[in-house]
Amino acid sequence: MSAADVAEVVARSRRFVRDVVIPAEPLTGTPLDPEARAALQRQARAAGVFAPHVPVELGGLGLPLTAWSPVFQEAGYSPIGPAVLNCMAPDEGNMLLLERLATPAQRESFLVPLAAGDVRSSFAMTEPHPGAGSDPAALATVAHRRGGRWVIDGEKRFISGAEEAAFAIVMARTPDLGERAATMFLVPMDAPGVEIGHAIRTLETAITGGHPHVRYHGVEVGEEAVLGTPGEAFRHAQLRLGPARLTHCMRWLGLARRAQDTALDRVRSRELFGHPLGELGLAQALLADSEIDLASSAALIDRAAASLVADPREGATASSLAKVHVSEAVGRVIDRAVQLCGGDGVTHELPLLGFLNEVRPFRVYDGSSETHRWAIARRAIARRRAEVEDGEAALDVAEGAR
Ligand SMILES: Cc1cc2nc3c(=O)[nH]c(=O)nc-3n(C[C@H](O)[C@H](O)[C@H](O)COP(=O)(O)OP(=O)(O)OC[C@H]3O[C@@H](n4cnc5c(N)ncnc54)[C@H](O)[C@@H]3O)c2cc1C
Repeated sequence: MSAADVAEVVARSRRFVRDVVIPAEPLTGTPLDPEARAALQRQARAAGVFAPHVPVELGGLGLPLTAWSPVFQEAGYSPIGPAVLNCMAPDEGNMLLLERLATPAQRESFLVPLAAGDVRSSFAMTEPHPGAGSDPAALATVAHRRGGRWVIDGEKRFISGAEEAAFAIVMARTPDLGERAATMFLVPMDAPGVEIGHAIRTLETAITGGHPHVRYHGVEVGEEAVLGTPGEAFRHAQLRLGPARLTHCMRWLGLARRAQDTALDRVRSRELFGHPLGELGLAQALLADSEIDLASSAALIDRAAASLVADPREGATASSLAKVHVSEAVGRVIDRAVQLCGGDGVTHELPLLGFLNEVRPFRVYDGSSETHRWAIARRAIARRRAEVEDGEAALDVAEGAR
């Protein structure tokens, strides 16, 4: 796909989100209901902006990963834009995983309807204490082989979209395959033994279908439910997590850009102390810091996307770095916009407060800032150790002490 083709998709998405999606936004704090979503998705299909990341043969626009950022940012300019364009979490990450791992039969049953927007999905990893959270190795949900079938038992929580989903990709330990082995299973939500439990109310509304507990009571599935190689769930999860955390960055960067545009419009129209607010230095400092946050976020996303394509292992590191920066930067940008809009910023007259709620949880999910910083620092120390072991002089030794 040429740069001109990508620019055309960006322009179409921008027009569609501004002309059709933003006027249809529900009141702040109210999620988009499934019927409204379906109607808007039909309009998105007609406008040629539906499923930008999905291969053409599955009804999408077939954009390569390196071209997703500008389009996902346009979608993210509205909190409901990604759901309308069918590029919202967790479905978009699940599509990618299915595309890479699904058998032909799994593609037909799960990927085709998901890419078409006919069904929703969820990804079931996190568990109540002491199970998996920041530490996936604590995974407690277990699947045992019995008579040629798998029987899954356990409890998950924070399972985004589960209340609307047709199926979940479930991560479970499979001790029959080794002590530390885990496997991914495609489990229909209506399979006997699947129970949606306590609905967890969270700050944000853009990811519809709730984030409830889901329990698996002796849920039986056949070998055909295994996604990818049995026992390789942790390795497979990396295929999803690297790009998925980056697409969150892209979408939320779009929302931060809208907050900055709101602030820019406000400082041009608001007169204070005989000047437009935008001519007062302290206000300019807030705007400038936000421009720097937006530009550095976009650059780190592009770098990570290129890196994920060139070498998925290196890409995971780059996407981890981008995730920490962007998840924190978008919060700062929206918060500065709130400040520049004065009293209006902290009311529901403007949507900025809702935007703050949308982005805050991103510092926790897809790896908290602390988990990523921990990993980034460990990798940096290991890299430097290797350089010194390869013959570079260590720089911490003071000259006189040598
Ligand atoms: C809105 C939302 C949607 C979600 N959707 C899904 C979903 O669809 N599927 C799913 O499986 N999960 C989902 N999650 C769960 C999410 O992935 C977890 O909340 C996250 O992994 C953190 O796990 P935890 O909540 O158990 O926190 P804990 O693991 O208890 O971590 C708590 C805190 O410990 C700190 N910490 C973590 N690691 C380190 C470290 N190395 N050093 C120092 N401090 C550290 C961090 O501050 C962290 O926030 C979602 C969560 C939210 C809020």
